[in-house]
Formats: sequence, structure tokens, C-alpha cells
Amino acid sequence: MIALEGITKRFADHTVLDGIDLSLERGEIIVVIGPSGTGKSTLLRCVNFLETPDAGRIQVGDLQVDATHASRDDILALRRRTAFVFQNYALFAHKTALDNIAERMIVVDRLSKSDAHDRAREILERIGLADKADAYPASLSGGQQQRIGIGRAMAAGAEVMLFDEPTSALDPEWVDEVLTLMKQLAAEQQTMIVVSHEMQFAREVADRVVFMEGGHIVEQAPPETLFTNPQDERTRSFLRKVL
Ligand code: ATP
Ligand code: MG
Repeated sequence: MIALEGITKRFADHTVLDGIDLSLERGEIIVVIGPSGTGKSTLLRCVNFLETPDAGRIQVGDLQVDATHASRDDILALRRRTAFVFQNYALFAHKTALDNIAERMIVVDRLSKSDAHDRAREILERIGLADKADAYPASLSGGQQQRIGIGRAMAAGAEVMLFDEPTSALDPEWVDEVLTLMKQLAAEQQTMIVVSHEMQFAREVADRVVFMEGGHIVEQAPPETLFTNPQDERTRSFLRKVL
């Protein structure tokens, strides 16, 4: 179970997140949508302290972290339980696909190199890139690089995966293979929070769609409800532009 309570974030005098409450059950998939600059990325980054929230609490499983009293150990524990997939993949350019996936298992989870490599090979198999173990990122397509980015998050064995527009940097031809992999994870009951403008993906995969604007959650509902019967005028106005 993941619960965000009262998450608040300011940059100078700009309140980007104004007391966000959001909770997810294990295995639940939430897609967050909303206009540009509305705080979607900031919210995701606050969940694992890539940004430090100014106020609020984050609970992942039995771990509770208070934003204003978070110790270094709290933050490390939170990062062990969450895995972030970045828009621009953020792979290590000088490491092979296999090493990109194995890295965290060696450094963070303290697995032996051979155990980490065995497990990384299993993940490469699952993401359909077994034949690319020794390839460097520059020799891979955008779609393949992002699948490695997701594979690296899978290696973390995290309770929740956080995706920030995982397909928006991709050429259109590579989007489907990444969404397909995410659907595969969804079918395996991986808990995920996905910031995305892929409305079709949200319709097919989300248990709940969350519409954010101006640092608030305006409305949240299962996709069939939110897309066909939005309650708030701000949601309707946004959906008119994107659907
Ligand atoms: P997009 O859809 O364009 O990705 P978003 O909803 O993810 O937008 P955020 O990136 O979370 O929006 O940004 C929310 C607001 O916070 C914006 O006004 C942005 O300029 C501001 N912001 C984000 N990060 C910082 C930062 N490190 N310093 C100052 N302002 C920031
Ligand atoms: Mg963003």
C-alpha cells in the first residue's frame, strides 16, 4: 500500500503541490494526467525524494516517512521500495545493457556480480532483449533503451514503479513496444504510478486516472468514468484538448 498525505512543494514563492493526498493499493495502476507545469513530475519526484517535499507524509508498505523529519536512512529505504523510470532513460552510456540492469543489484542490493548478472539476464529475457546483453545504449533504438530503463527498475524489485512520461521522448515507431512492456508489468500486478499523455494506455491499463491541475488533484476515477463523464469543468476542458 502506498499513501501520500498532504504532499506540499514550493519553488520560491510558487506552490507547485498544495497538499496532495493519494493512495494506491498493492497491484493498482494509476495514470496521472494534466496540463504542462501542473506538478505531475514534481509529485512523482517527491515520492522518492528526488525532490524534497516541504510538508507531508509518504507511506510505502510498513515504511512511513515524514517529509520534514526524513533521515538519510528513511530516504534510502524509500528509494529501495520505489523505482523511477525516466523520460530520457538515464542509462549509463559506458555500460552495457546487462551492466545497466545489474548495477543497482550490485551497488544497492549487494548481490555478487555473478548473481546480479544472472538476474539481469532473466530480466533481459523478460523484456525481450536477451540478445542485447552486451550492447551499449548508443547502439540501441530509443524503444530498446527505454525497455532497458524499465528493466533496470524491474531489477530493483521495488514495491512501486514510478514512470514519468516514459514514451514522450520516443519516436512514434518505438512507443508501442514500451507500452506493451508496461502492460505486461501491469498484468503481473506491479503497482505503478504513471505520468502519461497516452490516453489510450490510460484507458486500457489504469485502474484509476488522476487529473491534476494547479497543484491539486481535481478529480480521480476509473478511466471509463473519467473519460466519459468528467465531473469538473477543468477536467472537461483538458480532455477536450487531448482526446
Ligand atoms: P509537464 O507536463 O510539462 O512535464 P509537469 O506537470 O510535470 O509538466 P512539473 O515539471 O512538475 O510539471 O513542474 C511544475 C512547476 O514547477 C512548473 O512551473 C515548473 O517550472 C516548476 N519547477 C519544477 N521543477 C523546478 C525546480 N527544480 N526549480 C524551480 N521550479 C521548478
Ligand atoms: Mg513533467
